[in-house]
Amino acid sequence: MRILFATRNRHKIKEVRSIFRSISSLKILDLDEIDLAYQDCEDFLETFDSFEENAIAKARYFNQISGLPTLADDSGLVVDCLGGAPGVNSKRFSPWSKGDSISQDESNNRFLIECLRTFPDSDWTARYVCVVVHIVTKENVRVIRGEVEGDIIEHPRGKDGFGYDPHFLVRDTGLTFSEMSGKKKNRLSHRGKAMRNLLEEMKSDV
Ligand code: IMP
Repeated sequence: MRILFATRNRHKIKEVRSIFRSISSLKILDLDEIDLAYQDCEDFLETFDSFEENAIAKARYFNQISGLPTLADDSGLVVDCLGGAPGVNSKRFSPWSKGDSISQDESNNRFLIECLRTFPDSDWTARYVCVVVHIVTKENVRVIRGEVEGDIIEHPRGKDGFGYDPHFLVRDTGLTFSEMSGKKKNRLSHRGKAMRNLLEEMKSDV
């Protein structure tokens, strides 16, 4: 079975391919493989207030233009003392964000720590959320949420992962996601949980 994973984020593609690796009958295609070049309108798909609505909008759009069964996720960091921010705005949280994804990640992280400075660090509790949507057909749509609890730390730790990972201390592990192997991150992460639950549901398709 061929499924399109509709994202431009190469880190997400790598993580999802690794999660689905054990299912040899499943081929995860990315947007480049099916020659869907980036279009400006993609930036306007994720304008909703919930991860669910954004993920559905992305999945429906790419399902429509590709004609393939499609997966899309919308994910982000939810910080309690910031009233849930950055949340659905995680990708473009920092007002200083510009340019490639590395400098965008760096300025998002710097801005996050700036926002948190007025709160005691015992209040820096957070979670990552991932909502994955699987469009099987127009009428058959699966929506699954995965979450992982953690605490934000001021000084980044570790080299792997992406986005807010160096500042996200995974609860009860003493490690940030950037300090874990990809395999371990997938075992614990919001995306890993959502995708594994999706896989369980997909078993009923075959
Ligand atoms: P999306 O592409 O709209 O889903 O935005 C996801 C954004 O949330 C990313 O650009 C990151 O800033 C953040 N994010 C989501 N998942 C992760 C993760 O696993 N690690 C680090 N940052 C993440």
